[in-house]
Amino acid sequence: MAEQRKLAVEKRIALVAHDKKKKDLSDWCLTNKDVLAKHELFGTGTTAKMISERLGLPVNTLFSGPLGGDQQIGSMIAEGKLDFLVFFWDPMEAQPHDSDVKALLRLAVAWNIIIANNRTTADFILHSELMKDDYVVTVPDFSKYLSRDLT
Ligand code: PGA
Repeated sequence: MAEQRKLAVEKRIALVAHDKKKKDLSDWCLTNKDVLAKHELFGTGTTAKMISERLGLPVNTLFSGPLGGDQQIGSMIAEGKLDFLVFFWDPMEAQPHDSDVKALLRLAVAWNIIIANNRTTADFILHSELMKDDYVVTVPDFSKYLSRDLT
């Protein structure tokens, strides 16, 4: 049977934005401050600092994205320590750490976590009825991959 993981009502949410999307994310956070205050927040260095100062809420601060923060979030996802990733990446500009960005997006999909990459999606998710209750996530079964034949 597929492994399942329960998402509690209080979720662990990571906030990440590329430089030209930081204002957009921080505006969204301010608009939704009351809802976000009910969850545990994480963020890459610069994004976390900006949002924490603007909202006056605690945000667990990781390394800056290009210095390893994206990978720290990816590692939290793989370890089942993150429920929801709000990642406003910039579709108009290449980043020095594009490989890390790709890796983070890949892990979020691979581990079937909640992910929003723009404001509209973030709104629809944050205000979804499903956010208000426990929710059971089916953890993808990678056992076939792990026991693949290498001979
Ligand atoms: P930053 O990182 O919040 O430290 O700017 C964001 C990113 O991953 O690019």
